[in-house]
Amino acid sequence: MTQQDIRPPAAGPAPVTLASVPPEPARRPLISYVLPVYDEQDGIAAFHAELTAALAGRPELDFELVYVNDGSRDGSLALLKDFAAGDRRVRVVDLARNFGHQLAITAGLDLAAGDAVIIMDTDLQDPPQVSLELIDAWRGGAEIVHARRRSRQDTAFKRATAHLYYRLLRSSTEVDIPLDTGDFRLLDRRVADELCRYRERSRFVRGIVASMGYHQSVVSFDRDERFAGETKYPLRKMARLAVDGMTSFSTTPLKMITRLGFVVLVLSLAGIVYALAMKFLRPEVTVSGWTMLMVVVLFLGGTQMLSLGVIGTYVGRIYRETQGRPLYLVREVVGGPGPGADD
Ligand code: UDP
Ligand code: MG
Repeated sequence: MTQQDIRPPAAGPAPVTLASVPPEPARRPLISYVLPVYDEQDGIAAFHAELTAALAGRPELDFELVYVNDGSRDGSLALLKDFAAGDRRVRVVDLARNFGHQLAITAGLDLAAGDAVIIMDTDLQDPPQVSLELIDAWRGGAEIVHARRRSRQDTAFKRATAHLYYRLLRSSTEVDIPLDTGDFRLLDRRVADELCRYRERSRFVRGIVASMGYHQSVVSFDRDERFAGETKYPLRKMARLAVDGMTSFSTTPLKMITRLGFVVLVLSLAGIVYALAMKFLRPEVTVSGWTMLMVVVLFLGGTQMLSLGVIGTYVGRIYRETQGRPLYLVREVVGGPGPGADD
């Protein structure tokens, strides 16, 4: 039955034909913010005020603020609940304990529903105004927009270690993580959906995102000092994150064992030849039993090191399998029957 069949005959008001139906007003894009919070009671109100002020400058967009309380021990949660009570755009996810920054981000990403998702810190080190620039880049066609620190106000130690680390990471992994980026970035819905399929535990979100492909672009900004409180990344957590980043994208340490195995084996074969030569050519200077000892020790050392390398290769494969990452990511499929087509 078509639309016309069910309409009353012409006597009534003019039938509404499809052509005269005004086009449905296009839905306004929804932008989600994923905002991890850990003991930020002194600065979170200032952050929230600055963020909402920035968002007020973009009335053409809808916003959703997903605050993730990562087991704060101070009054942060109460403040977040106040924000939610006063603003329908705010959602608060209260994690059962402190799971760490990377998992807090992940929990927020799982919940965020926007057409684009922005991840940013809540200590005002990632300026809310810059997030608007990320949105502009997204509307210009980028699917991933990294916010890159042009300068930063952290301690000299933190600056130096970060500088070194990002360069080391870049040289030893296959993924091209843009230099000097933290987790401040925008993801298109498609990318966020794919990112949610990565369920590895020790995660280095910025590395995963960089390795995904898609159209990526970079916006530079000057990183401010923390607005209030102390860094929530003491050296211990930093070191763990650094190790996670390195090991989740690189099996270089395992490959080094294999290489070392070859070198040790070659050296030990040379040692065996030397020991045998000494026994037969200079028996008078060779202590009794020395040759046998040398042959056995060198042979065992060489083969053991090489075996470790072989095992390491398999461990590397098992590791990659257990990460269970998607095998490939699709941007779009063109042509053919669409979803919902009858046959
Ligand atoms: N954070 C978190 N869980 C943690 C540590 C930090 O959710 O276990 C949040 C923190 O509230 C902040 C962001 O992650 O919004 C970055 O932390 P921080 O500013 O301390 O790191 P830094 O900027 O010093 O590297
Ligand atoms: Mg910070």
